[in-house]
Amino acid sequence: MPTVGLYIQVPFCQTKCTYCNFHTGVVSPDRFAPYIDAVRHEITSVRELSRVAGVVWPTGFDWDLLERKQMPHNTVDTIYIGGGTPSLLDPKLLSTTLAAIWDSFPCSWEEVTLEADPETIESENAQQWVSSGISRISFGSQSFVDEELKAAGRLHRAVDIYRAVPILRRAGIRNISFDLIAGLPKQTHESWRYSLAEAIALSPEHVSIYLMEIDEGSRLGLEVLENGSRYSAREVPSDEAMTEFYELAQTELKAAGYEQYEISNWAKPGFVSKHNLKYWRREPYLGFGAGAHSFSGEQRWSNVHDGKDYVSAIASGKPAIESVQPVTAALALEEELFLGLRQLAGIDVNRIERQYGVDLQDKITRLASNGMVERYGDVVRLAPAKLSVSNEVLVELLR
Ligand code: SF4
Repeated sequence: MPTVGLYIQVPFCQTKCTYCNFHTGVVSPDRFAPYIDAVRHEITSVRELSRVAGVVWPTGFDWDLLERKQMPHNTVDTIYIGGGTPSLLDPKLLSTTLAAIWDSFPCSWEEVTLEADPETIESENAQQWVSSGISRISFGSQSFVDEELKAAGRLHRAVDIYRAVPILRRAGIRNISFDLIAGLPKQTHESWRYSLAEAIALSPEHVSIYLMEIDEGSRLGLEVLENGSRYSAREVPSDEAMTEFYELAQTELKAAGYEQYEISNWAKPGFVSKHNLKYWRREPYLGFGAGAHSFSGEQRWSNVHDGKDYVSAIASGKPAIESVQPVTAALALEEELFLGLRQLAGIDVNRIERQYGVDLQDKITRLASNGMVERYGDVVRLAPAKLSVSNEVLVELLR
């Protein structure tokens, strides 16, 4: 069995970005400590809570050994604290959460990531993060153009990014990932090129580029649907422009020494996200906190999204798990294709055909003849020129 990744969800933000449809909210800081108390309790009581919720652990999994920290193959090697804006929390709340993990699981941490927004980063926080074991910062930079940041409802400005990066470096963070969004309202070819250049100049080890998704659950999405003009809804770049932004990012990041390893992710050598690779490789992970998801290899389960409901469930000694789904063979096959092809390394078609008793040859031949995928022996991967339209290819393959 492979090692395990842990995800901690912190659903609090300082403001709500116009494009955001995540289950996150702006709440009083008084709610932070009770929430983290609940997360710690969920971590230390995971065995009992998951049993009550009907989670069945894979054959060979032994809780007694795990609790005695004698299950090396279930060692926790990656942790990801995401949100929301977890960097808002008092660093002590983060360090006690990490201590609860350390006390509850066999641990050999290789990568402990904290999502942090630029305006929340101060020397004192950063030093405490490093002391508690955090080794990687996923940095919500999004853009280096103030007009775009403002239109998107972000609190930070470019100057906060320039201020925060040296603070993180001085604190000892050697692994920084920048998030950039292609397709923000008011973004132009010129401003996108500028954001890419500024990001590259700061030399992060990792870059994630997300194409703007206009979701009707967000304030911006509603305005776009209703043809309104609030939140600069009429200044969202076209799909064609977004594709060009993505392709420009591919070119510029490659020229700067970053290797693309996933549809949205680039890394300098040795800095791929070990935690996120577990999702795409279908390796086990456990999620804690409101809305967090878990995967054992045989089941997927998820917690209630609402932060208050989550805290009350845990406080009354009940699991906060709201759904447990078995991963059927058909679903596992879909996941293998969908998640596998997100990675530029591609999928091993021969292994998948043997494992699931299917024949994918006709589909792959058709997609290859359309220039959608490339085939090298048993390995099939998305054609580099088609990465920006990967969803179309994946839908075709799954049909
Ligand atoms: S910081 Fe992230 S999670 Fe919070 S509102 Fe903005 S996009 Fe959503």
